[in-house]
Amino acid sequence: MKRRLLLRVAPYNRFTWPLLLNILEINGLDDAFDIRFVDGPVAMIIDDHLADARRDDIMLFSFMTPHLAHVAGDIAAVRGRVITAAGGIHTSAWPDHTRSLGFDIVFTGPAERSFAEFARDITEQNTYRDRYDGSDNDPFDDAIPLTRHIRFFPPLEIIRGCRWHCRYCATGRHPRYRSFASVERYLEKLREIVPHRVGFIAPSALDYGIHENDPDALARVLSHARSRFRFVEFGVFPSELRPESVTHESLSMIKRYATNRRLVIGCQSASNKRLSAIARGHTADDVIRAAATANECGFRALFDIIVAYPDETPDERSENILFIRDVTKRYNARFHLHHFFPLAGSDYEFRFPSFMSDAERNAFLSLAQNGTATPWWHEDEKNARAYFSYIVKNYPDLYARYH
Ligand code: SF4
Repeated sequence: MKRRLLLRVAPYNRFTWPLLLNILEINGLDDAFDIRFVDGPVAMIIDDHLADARRDDIMLFSFMTPHLAHVAGDIAAVRGRVITAAGGIHTSAWPDHTRSLGFDIVFTGPAERSFAEFARDITEQNTYRDRYDGSDNDPFDDAIPLTRHIRFFPPLEIIRGCRWHCRYCATGRHPRYRSFASVERYLEKLREIVPHRVGFIAPSALDYGIHENDPDALARVLSHARSRFRFVEFGVFPSELRPESVTHESLSMIKRYATNRRLVIGCQSASNKRLSAIARGHTADDVIRAAATANECGFRALFDIIVAYPDETPDERSENILFIRDVTKRYNARFHLHHFFPLAGSDYEFRFPSFMSDAERNAFLSLAQNGTATPWWHEDEKNARAYFSYIVKNYPDLYARYH
């Protein structure tokens, strides 16, 4: 009987698994496993998949810091029944702490080489190490997020990491760019399976091409995609734009090849003082220019703003609300509001949010009533509070590092 490889599926890690399985496939290792996607409450997973599991079956997790308390609950329920392994951005930043949750194995950094190495260790030698480290020098172009094990087709990651280093962000700091040949190979294969739609993962999306000082590189990728697919998405999640990169030239290129007519643009705050403190590298005026340019080029702009930054003042909150009202009215824009969360690996990993007063919370919630701004921050705020309740109870020494 084959060893089970159980992939712990959650809404936040769906893009991970097809790439990981492709890594096994291109290394000829996937046939060694009974691969299962496990979704839903952990008690159900235990009944359906672990009741007759072997101790050397494997359960994989991938998560970010906001999911830590939830993942810790899963691990407490399954540890000892199977080998448990964790990867993802949180684990890469805090591998020792992740191990202390009860994981048998941690993966840090890119998985392209390290995951294949682990799969060989376990299938060929029946052994494994407690830590596998990927490196930014590992191959990035070979694996693509397509697998014969599931009909799910995530966007293609054409940029991994980001050169901007905003202080709240945990995206890797050493950007890598997929080659055109790899993009081409992915598009051909995807078209054989799903001939309709393609999207891309690209933090700071218009940076593609900067690595080879080639201003036409992105246009080549999008034009190639458009010649093969009916719908091409770019400049929306997960390939958002920075405001200062929004120009008539860049939007004309997006309009020529992409089919979306909405753009997601990072604003992050209306306060120039805050934008400078978080090292965004643009101003509030850049955001207004981006909204105007989007309209002139036939797009509607959706802006992201984060509330409750460390040390955020009541004045900044009022400034944000006035800005949101003004920009939505003048430019038919919309705002997605998020709540600050201290992500492991970011400059702010040990900063508390400045939680809002009831009056401030009501003021931001009222923006949702006419569709001006999403109330997503409200759920984020609950997650932040749940995270700190978990940490103070279970890891008081770690909690003491927050300020
Ligand atoms: S927030 Fe966006 S621009 Fe800033 S570092 Fe993260 S991915 Fe890059």
